[in-house]
Amino acid sequence: MDTSVISLDPALHDLPSMYFGTASDFLTSAKKTDTDTLMIACSEQGSAPDNVSFARPGRFYVLQHIAASIPSAMGGNGNSVVPNIEFAFSQHDIKHVILCGHLKCGVIRSWMNDRDDFDFRGMRTRFEQTTLRAVNQAYSRYSGEERVKAMIYEYALFQMDHLCSHPFIQDKITSQELRLHVWIVNDDTARVSAYDPARGCFAVI
Ligand SMILES: [Zn+2]
Repeated sequence: MDTSVISLDPALHDLPSMYFGTASDFLTSAKKTDTDTLMIACSEQGSAPDNVSFARPGRFYVLQHIAASIPSAMGGNGNSVVPNIEFAFSQHDIKHVILCGHLKCGVIRSWMNDRDDFDFRGMRTRFEQTTLRAVNQAYSRYSGEERVKAMIYEYALFQMDHLCSHPFIQDKITSQELRLHVWIVNDDTARVSAYDPARGCFAVI
């Protein structure tokens, strides 16, 4: 697996650095006994928190969805993930939300290859209009597996943009009750890379 750093442009997203938590923010509160973390992961990732060795049992409320996709507040009807997210917040005092993708994501790789049978209610079209367009315009320097990585990173960041467009999330991040984390798991090593908005890259934690 390619280990070079992919430089990303934070200006592609409406995600100020102050919205994000750090790995140490997350680990500091790990000793509590309650469920304080919502993880939104890809359906392909198996039991996603099993990949995270430093998480104690019971900490995570996990939702798994195709490529960890989230519709924005402006669209995406017919998708049940947003009511599921609202339910998680109604049941638990959620302090961290982790949007968790993975490097071997077969869904995103199929979308890149324009597979019609992978459109799933217009999700491939939305991928094309956001991630594919942004990567083609901003990261033409990357090819091959580096381009795939850029696509997987950017797709996750766009889903976090979409999550933050929902008023119930916006309220919690502006009042600093909620910290954001975007993680990508390396399926081969189970190592987690987290988005660092100050550096504009993903770094292993
Ligand atoms: Zn996937």
